[in-house]
Amino acid sequence: NETGLTGKSVIVTGAGSGIGRAAALRFASAGAKVLVADLNGETARETVESVEAAGGAAVAVTGDLGDQAVVDRVVATAVEEFGSLDVLVNNAGIMDRMSAAADVSDAEWERVLRVNLTAPFLLTRAALPHMLAAGKGAIVNTASEAGLRGSAAGAAYTASKHGVIGLTKNLAVMYRGKGIRANAIAPGGVATNITVDAEQGAHGPATIAPYFGNIGSVTSAEDQAAAIVFLASDAAAGINGAILPVDSGWAAV
Ligand code: NAD
Repeated sequence: NETGLTGKSVIVTGAGSGIGRAAALRFASAGAKVLVADLNGETARETVESVEAAGGAAVAVTGDLGDQAVVDRVVATAVEEFGSLDVLVNNAGIMDRMSAAADVSDAEWERVLRVNLTAPFLLTRAALPHMLAAGKGAIVNTASEAGLRGSAAGAAYTASKHGVIGLTKNLAVMYRGKGIRANAIAPGGVATNITVDAEQGAHGPATIAPYFGNIGSVTSAEDQAAAIVFLASDAAAGINGAILPVDSGWAAV
């Protein structure tokens, strides 16, 4: 088919839920083989079962992607099971407590940065040798509206998603001419299982709420998955270093 994804080996992180699960199913229906990486073994297995029920091929690897050993296992399993690594989707992420800087604990800062920014870096670094050897590859990162503006989340999440956008652009520049493209989606509000910690900082939602009025309508995980698969596909062969808002127009406000 015209996606060029038939038979390709694709890693999707956070594929046990929400945007990642929708992306795994869409890649599989385009003919790709999908490695489902998630912290939650039960939901990861459910995604694998859904892919298989639809006639596709998938395998799950469970663990914390902030851990180098888990990252190495994810990449090695994709290569061993599927024979190559063509697409990496860094999608797993966690929300912060919507806290302003003075209210952010060391633990919150370190966890949000590790999962949302360090894990995509670790996975990318582990995937690149395989893509460079093949002379081709596509990386798609799930950033956020919070990577484009200061009014969509707390300090930690906002910094992490600005970081993801910086990493995406730098990859695009460093590896252009080597057959590897790196792009990101910037979702606005999406109906998924992601949660904001109930106990929030003093300058949290109340401070940001007035700016949230611009959010527009909430999109579906499937809307986000369509953009991820497009950016990974041959239809996006000329697109590198792009940050694509999938946000019902929030970024245009
Ligand atoms: P979700 O909570 O439904 O799914 C996220 C998945 O990531 C879960 O299955 C979770 O187990 C997994 N995960 C979390 N930490 C992990 C870790 N350390 N290692 C491995 N897996 C881990 O959330 P979602 O909304 O589908 O989020 C996907 C991405 O979209 C995230 O990067 C999030 O920041 C981004 N995003 C979401 C929204 C939104 O409104 N939902 C908006 C903008 C961006």
